[in-house]
Amino acid sequence: MFERLNEVKVLRDPVHGYIHIDLKVVWDVLNSAWFQRLRRIRQLGGAVVVYHCAEHTRFEHSLGVYEIVRRMVTEVPDLSRELNEKEKVTAELAAMLHDIGHGPYSHAFEGVTNTSHEVYTCRIIEENTEITKILEDACPGLSKDVADVIRHESSNPILSQLISSQLDADRFDYLIRDAYFTGTKYGEFDMERILRTMRVDNGRLAVKESGVYAVENYIMARYHMYWQVYYHPVARSYECVLHMLFKRLKDLGTRKLDPSVIPLFIPIIKGKKIPLSTYFDLDEYACAYGFAQLVHHKDPITADLARRIRDRDLFAYADSTPSFNRKMRSTLKKAGYDLNYYWGRNEVEQNPYKPYSGEFSGSIWVRMKDGSTRELSNASNIVYSLIHGPTNDDNKVFFPDLKKK
Ligand code: ZN
Repeated sequence: MFERLNEVKVLRDPVHGYIHIDLKVVWDVLNSAWFQRLRRIRQLGGAVVVYHCAEHTRFEHSLGVYEIVRRMVTEVPDLSRELNEKEKVTAELAAMLHDIGHGPYSHAFEGVTNTSHEVYTCRIIEENTEITKILEDACPGLSKDVADVIRHESSNPILSQLISSQLDADRFDYLIRDAYFTGTKYGEFDMERILRTMRVDNGRLAVKESGVYAVENYIMARYHMYWQVYYHPVARSYECVLHMLFKRLKDLGTRKLDPSVIPLFIPIIKGKKIPLSTYFDLDEYACAYGFAQLVHHKDPITADLARRIRDRDLFAYADSTPSFNRKMRSTLKKAGYDLNYYWGRNEVEQNPYKPYSGEFSGSIWVRMKDGSTRELSNASNIVYSLIHGPTNDDNKVFFPDLKKK
């Protein structure tokens, strides 16, 4: 049904060894301008300024998720047997395209534009772009099918589970890839073992009891990566300064626009719906240029915040407590800082695993030796203790380092 390439294309990848592409539609998506744009969006938002080698992009991550899903639908016997060809290809394409709508600086920018990347992802797949045409040429109706998998509205829910659940190809790839490029070892886990023990149980993904240790290891890896990498306070400081810069630009408005504001930033400042053609241009290269221009803005706050981003002169941070906050805020005010732009607060929390947490994330199911099926925390003592312990959270405040002034 789907056209195959004359020979399988193999792309070298430090995490998976090789990425295998044998379908023309996948190859065409890879070569589209929208997919190539992902080379200009790095995988980690603020964590790039903490881990200096973590310059990897959404491009290689998307290919990695595709490769894992391709392996799942061909190498996991239950999946290879139960899914038809169209479902397999749809899942592979959804894996490849699941992050196509990501804006610059990862999730930090979602707060600036007030739109989640999933919304853009589905628009890029369905709103008559080059991607839509490639999918429709391969099979009429395919663009909606692929977007439905990403929206969790697919007629076969297992396709969505492969890409987005608590045990999915997206998490497998970003944990291993981010661990590799940051140099942290915590993110590593035995994905091969999980794939070998993966089964389909009553229409949902499950692992055999013998795979539970590998799943425990994966949950711990995720937990450690969150605290060591994704929630690193310096990464959050970077995101805070970025947020403050756009807040300042929005507050200044567009009535008397400074010539240092690049046209690409105007729809963001106006808070308008960003057209896809503008969104396409909005990559990290363009933003970095935009920030470099803003360093010359006549408003000293804008110029200072832009310089801070360009030169990685970030805010200091401390645990948020009423007495510290009161003292620090008064010191900053005395030093002449406008606290609307020089005082940020950010609280993060992380549950390593949430059973029964709604249809989107789903639970992890384990098929026991006796043939019964259990939810993971009832099959693993470690996971049981983890989810019944206190939730780990971290509440921090961010402000200029006065010692540097
Ligand atoms: Zn992803």
